[in-house]
Amino acid sequence: MLDMNMIRKQADDYQEAADWKGISISIGELIETDDRRRELLQETEALRAERNRRSKAIERLMLEGRKEEAEPLKRETAELLQRLKEAESKFRQTAYRYEELMLRVPNLTSPDTPMGKSDADNVEVRREGDVPDFPFNALSHVELGERHGMFDFARGVKLGGTRQYVLKNSGLQLHRAVQQLALDMLADKGYELMDVPALVKEETLVASGYFPANRDQTYGIQGEDKWLIGTSEVPLVSYFSGEVLDLAAPKLIGAVSPCYRSEVGSSGRDVHGLYRVHQFAKVEQVVICQAKLETALALLEQMTANGEELLRLLELPYRVVAVCAGDMSQKNYKQYDIETWMPSRDGYGETHSASLLLDFQARRSNIRYLDENGKSRFAYTLNNTMVATPRILIPLLENHQREDGSIHIPKALRPYMRGLSELRPQH
Ligand code: AMP
Repeated sequence: MLDMNMIRKQADDYQEAADWKGISISIGELIETDDRRRELLQETEALRAERNRRSKAIERLMLEGRKEEAEPLKRETAELLQRLKEAESKFRQTAYRYEELMLRVPNLTSPDTPMGKSDADNVEVRREGDVPDFPFNALSHVELGERHGMFDFARGVKLGGTRQYVLKNSGLQLHRAVQQLALDMLADKGYELMDVPALVKEETLVASGYFPANRDQTYGIQGEDKWLIGTSEVPLVSYFSGEVLDLAAPKLIGAVSPCYRSEVGSSGRDVHGLYRVHQFAKVEQVVICQAKLETALALLEQMTANGEELLRLLELPYRVVAVCAGDMSQKNYKQYDIETWMPSRDGYGETHSASLLLDFQARRSNIRYLDENGKSRFAYTLNNTMVATPRILIPLLENHQREDGSIHIPKALRPYMRGLSELRPQH
């Protein structure tokens, strides 16, 4: 959890960050609760010490056969034990409330984070590639998928309910191809790649900063402490929990995993097609580095550039936006989103999200390293999407469609598509 001394010193800044991020917490209440917790701790410790002192005195009197003298002391001790029980109970309640509040405190945001309430206030940083201007009636990915026999939405819903789909034939191949391309790119960049559990314990979600904030976004297994991850960032970060790492060089790790999201709060939004679904696959980058801001900021740029490189290989137009405070999650300090052009939306849609969290996750997961002076310090963590699919199939199909209904396959993807340079429609 965050450093309470820092929160006390910068109480107004933390309150402001919470207000911008829409997190309901009173930092004033947190500080009062911490004060009370400390008082109660002192009180219980003093009462325990007194109890121990008296127990020893009673024992001595009994051993010396001075039973009558021990009796009044026993009565007084019984009353003291009652006070101790009450103080312990109050301490437990206060400590619980303290923990509950601490888990809600947001990370501060970087000085250059735009101050805004929603994604409409995000600020464009750069734009790459030309947005297509089709001289024909361009189709949506749903229509293209139908012509190519790639998706089955009706049976997806029959099997799993709303926001479910079935990928078929070239739809499945493209889905797998973009993941493999992303994994190979990360391997070439020196990332250690993993296949991680998609079912994790609650403590893993707390340690990576997902719980309690994202509890309502997360599917749990009834009657078990098992939860389906919404991103492999969760197991990737917690993989190192409780460890002291050698961070002479930053640790670059990546994974491909299924991701599950309840999407509560999005009801009625993006209900058609592949944009917002309950289950998708994501190749994720996670980096753990020393607690040096300059290093971490450079890594954030690098990880963002990795996502951009993939989009350029997929020959897709995109833009990078600096995410504003109100559109940021509790744990982020600085964030870029990459948005890729989606003709059917007549706009850019988010496909990647790159975040720097400073030591927010490392404190919760207790991930440390020894600095130059041998001092134990919490690490910094970062993450970015490398590719998330099937969302990426939206720009891939829609931007690369041709008038005859065929779909161009970018060169970089062909080795993963059995050498095909285009997909021909079935009708
Ligand atoms: P996030 O982990 O929320 O930053 O999301 C990373 C990426 O995952 C997004 O940029 C999307 O490409 C993808 N994604 C997130 N939520 C969904 C969803 N419900 N359906 C499809 N793709 C999603």
